[in-house]
Amino acid sequence: ERPGAPARHVTARIAPLGSRLVLALVEDRTRERRVEAVRRDFVANVSHELKTPVGAIRVLADAVADAADDPEAVRRFAGRMLTESDRLTQLVQQIIELSRLQGDDPLEAPVAVDVDGVIASAIDTSAVDAQRKGISVVAAGASGLQVFGNEEQVLAAVTNLVANAVAYSDAGSSVTVTTQATDGSVEISVVDQGIGIPSDEIDRIFERFYRVDPARHRSTGGTGLGLSIVKHVAATHGGEVKVWSVEGQGSTFTLTLPQHLPSDSRTSGQTMVP
Ligand code: ADP
Repeated sequence: ERPGAPARHVTARIAPLGSRLVLALVEDRTRERRVEAVRRDFVANVSHELKTPVGAIRVLADAVADAADDPEAVRRFAGRMLTESDRLTQLVQQIIELSRLQGDDPLEAPVAVDVDGVIASAIDTSAVDAQRKGISVVAAGASGLQVFGNEEQVLAAVTNLVANAVAYSDAGSSVTVTTQATDGSVEISVVDQGIGIPSDEIDRIFERFYRVDPARHRSTGGTGLGLSIVKHVAATHGGEVKVWSVEGQGSTFTLTLPQHLPSDSRTSGQTMVP
């Protein structure tokens, strides 16, 4: 045996371990940088979105000052200031909600969430808007199903889907929420007969602040954040959200969430491979 052999052997055994460690550190830095880029992007988007209503309020305040001797104009400008400040409030509320949801891991302390209860609360939240527009919102029967995760997050997701269905439907139409168990998961579908989504825009609607042609539905006063919240909740629960839509006919959003913890399969008597 050559004297250097054992040393080479040791080096050879350390090298792959060492390179794996370096790789892991590099991957970690890459993820860190990606998270930082997403955060920077978010802050830039938020600043841009906040500037619009703030700018409008500023212009309207000037207009009110200039129109001091025209009470009718003052009333009109003040009304628009109220609309813009409501929009600002809604935007800030949703930004806070999204960043709070992003902060906690729903699978850290998961509970069994009663799906029928969540749907009933979500419908309740949209009841006033639905009634004002003459839209009926119904849950298609009790399912008795449960999903595993964070109740507040699941509620936020379903509430956003129902609110959108009402916001993007015309008077007299109906919204139905159905529930179905499939292979370890629960599918919650919100079906509307509303304006639908153009097929070339459908891939973008889950992006933060993205709205399909804001001019088309300025009156709904949305923020473009609702579906980001739904997508985030689906992802952190190990589920998904899908959409089918025909412009002018309606949309169906299906949120799929697991009925069990992902680790349940590991504790069901199978031997774990280390
Ligand atoms: P918003 O606050 O604008 O509703 P969302 O993120 O919830 O923001 O939705 C993004 C966009 O997707 C909406 O602006 C709208 O154009 C479209 N959208 C969402 N849900 C529906 C629906 N049920 N029917 C038609 N369009 C929808």
